[in-house]
Amino acid sequence: MSYVDEVFDMVVAKNPAQPEFHQAVKEVLESLRVVIEANEEQYRKDALLERLVTPERQLLFRVPWVDDKGQVQVNNGFRVQFNSAIGPYKGGLRLHPSVNLGIIKFLGFEQIFKNSLTGLPIGGGKGGSDFDPKGKSDREVMAFCQSFITELHKYIGADTDVPAGDIGTGGREIGFMYGQYKRLTGLYEGVLTGKGLTYGGSLARTEATGYGLLYLTEEMLKCNGKDIAGKTVAISGSGNVAIYAAQKAQQLGAKVVTVSDSTGWIYDPEGIDVALLKEVKEVKRARLTEYAAARKSAEYHEKKNGEHGVWTVKCDVALPCATQNELDLEDAKALVANGCFAVAEGANMPTTMEATEYLQKNGVLFCPGKAANAGGVATSALEMSQNSERLSWTFEEVDSKLKTIMVNIFHNLDDAAKKYGMAGNYVAGANIAGFLKVAEAMTAQGIV
Ligand code: NDP
Repeated sequence: MSYVDEVFDMVVAKNPAQPEFHQAVKEVLESLRVVIEANEEQYRKDALLERLVTPERQLLFRVPWVDDKGQVQVNNGFRVQFNSAIGPYKGGLRLHPSVNLGIIKFLGFEQIFKNSLTGLPIGGGKGGSDFDPKGKSDREVMAFCQSFITELHKYIGADTDVPAGDIGTGGREIGFMYGQYKRLTGLYEGVLTGKGLTYGGSLARTEATGYGLLYLTEEMLKCNGKDIAGKTVAISGSGNVAIYAAQKAQQLGAKVVTVSDSTGWIYDPEGIDVALLKEVKEVKRARLTEYAAARKSAEYHEKKNGEHGVWTVKCDVALPCATQNELDLEDAKALVANGCFAVAEGANMPTTMEATEYLQKNGVLFCPGKAANAGGVATSALEMSQNSERLSWTFEEVDSKLKTIMVNIFHNLDDAAKKYGMAGNYVAGANIAGFLKVAEAMTAQGIV
């Protein structure tokens, strides 16, 4: 049996009931096969792959807090510190009822390669909780965040592990967490990113993942003789990534016709009104029904079981920006049938493996999340730099660095795919380019 297959079997045997983690490992190892086989003897001897798929540290903890009725609630807290070969652990905190250890491990594993691709000195980690901020009062969210950080603060720090936002963790949650960290440690340090602008946050961090997704998509299209201007774009999600992806797509001259949330989706043939979307989602924290009520051209569709409506709409470019496995084989077939020629992942692993293969086989340009959404973590690393030098850069300065990083990421993965005989396979290119740097650093640092 090949080394890659042996390690994958070991991952499944040692991590039962973690399908998302298995899926992420499989996708990465499959596309690394050619690189691993070229160095198999050395990697085997060093157990490099076994070490790569085993987190350096996994923290699981109780998060007790008191709700507005005086009832004590208990959630599970997680932080997986996956790999620190190239820098301190870095990765977001997801707050969503679906969160479990397998999901945090898949996200942490992906983060290793994503962070490596940015070219910045950051290792891979991820965390979160099965706490659901939806429908909770500000006081309840604060009580949860304070309890969460009271335990987690023992294991994080500006030079060890720097968490950030993710699904369910936005500026409000990061603020409460930062306040509690400072109170417990007495340190005013860049331990979290995604902070508010009045206390160490970076301009353009809010926009970074969505903007970065479009900078990379624009470059991918350009290198394939196409232009984003004038194209019709389908986006899923209506959170941080989706909103700023829609905004930048429209600034670049494209028309965004869909957004979605967990209960329904919008088709707006005149183009999504981003200001209205922000009002509904960022200010009122309301459902998309409110968007439809305020805009004549918008159709609202309730999400039915098993349907992911936005992918049935005719579009040139699809940007999945909600959550994992939201674009399956049926969706991929619908996209191809409707003439979609490019898919770039704003979310982490939103496309199933079968759907990815179908899109690639049908000539659709496909860029995986670990490259396409790396603008968020890259700008988080820029926030860390600003915190270290006690300075704040202008919006234009950060945005221009972000654009340079995204264009470089695309060329790195494009070059890696070509070098290993898989031109145009950006999944393989991203995994190979991300892996080589981490593998070299791990090898140089000995058996740790
Ligand atoms: P938000 O919480 O701001 O938004 C998430 C969006 O996805 C919401 O519209 C939400 O709908 C929808 N959604 C979440 N879970 C589900 C689900 N199970 N089924 C259907 N819809 C769902 O999160 P972000 O925009 O920050 O994150 C979106 C994705 O991007 C995630 O995969 C995240 O890991 C990834 N990402 C985020 C980065 C960032 O900087 N924020 C950086 C890199 C990747 P509803 O409001 O109804 O819950």
